[in-house]
Amino acid sequence: MGRALAQRGLETLVLERENAIGTGVSSRNSEVIHAGIYYPEGSLKARLCVRGKQLLYALCESHGIAHRRCGKLIVATDAAQLAGLKSLADKAARNGVDDLLWLSGEQARALEPALACEAALLSPSTGIVDSHGLMLALQGDLERAGGAVGLASTVQAIVASAGGHVLRVQSEGVEMELQARIVVNAAGLWAPAVAAATEGLDARFAPQAHFSKGCYFSLAGRAPFGRLVYPLPQDAWLGVHLTLDLGGQARFGPDAQWLPDGTDPAAIDYQVDAARAEAFYADVRRYWPGLPDGALQPAYSGVRPKIHGPDQPAPDFRIDGPGAHGIAGLVNLLGIESPGLTSSLAIADEVLQQLGV
Ligand SMILES: Cc1cc2nc3c(=O)[nH]c(=O)nc-3n(C[C@H](O)[C@H](O)[C@H](O)COP(=O)(O)OP(=O)(O)OC[C@H]3O[C@@H](n4cnc5c(N)ncnc54)[C@H](O)[C@@H]3O)c2cc1C
Repeated sequence: MGRALAQRGLETLVLERENAIGTGVSSRNSEVIHAGIYYPEGSLKARLCVRGKQLLYALCESHGIAHRRCGKLIVATDAAQLAGLKSLADKAARNGVDDLLWLSGEQARALEPALACEAALLSPSTGIVDSHGLMLALQGDLERAGGAVGLASTVQAIVASAGGHVLRVQSEGVEMELQARIVVNAAGLWAPAVAAATEGLDARFAPQAHFSKGCYFSLAGRAPFGRLVYPLPQDAWLGVHLTLDLGGQARFGPDAQWLPDGTDPAAIDYQVDAARAEAFYADVRRYWPGLPDGALQPAYSGVRPKIHGPDQPAPDFRIDGPGAHGIAGLVNLLGIESPGLTSSLAIADEVLQQLGV
């Protein structure tokens, strides 16, 4: 976001509570460039994912960010899932994803011999990206445009002032106040807390934070597939899928585990419990029966910044600008879970538009 503001010629400071950039949600994910298949028609997720994918591939190419348009297969593992796969293809078409190919089981196995499925959808525009390389490239552009990153600087409150907003910031034990005309709250897991600490913001615009942890297991040995493999999604969860990193190593995940409400994001335990592997074996063997016993090793985890609880339907991204809450120069980015990485550049454009800059 900071890059986009700086490139508009605005004096831009990105405040980051940690001692380095990119240690939050953006460094703990699947690093998949999503095609835009899954999201409700007309939603911000659908629109910004499809647009963001195009912008992201272009940025990767112009900036030499490591990425690969490896493609992905979404599989129906039994005949009962065929109708679901067909309706997913229809949804994708409504979202403007017009390159999906329907494959029979044999056609899918001709591409990926280790795969077990009744049918599959091939998404050629799905890919993978080095998320750290991406964030460094964004920081480079920000700084080239005259912007700066202030590390170890935690925004504690935002109060109204004549010229816009005053940010109360704590930096290495020192409290300071910064004046800003525009504030974009892109605080990931803390975004609802930052919204709640904003003077004059109606409580409707500071939703309760909920967190869902997702664990990954890596595969010992060679990857059995050259493309990503996803099961048919269940509700809003994409299921335990196989992704590849840019070194060709396979990993499975993420699973989904709600953390207790009121969890402090700073106190989240990112350890992967090896016992969770058991459920992975069962899930993965539905599409890869050849997964050997003992091949999965705990890898890493990430936490989804949700604004809905376990029993509520998944909401859209919330990009709450002045048109929604009535405070000039303020945008809150809430519930930016997947496909937030893919959508990031398009989200930035949407924010600029809402701010009228
Ligand atoms: C398990 C998992 C898998 C995912 N897989 C994918 C995928 O394959 N493809 C995809 O497109 N998306 C994926 N996503 C979603 C994607 O990772 C996120 O949407 C995206 O990274 C969110 O970025 P962000 O900048 O909003 O949050 P973050 O990356 O967390 O950045 C927020 C930053 O704000 C800082 N901060 C917080 N509070 C304060 C404060 N008060 N003051 C100053 N700084 C503060 C934090 O330290 C952090 O660095 C996945 C997410 C998860 C959890």
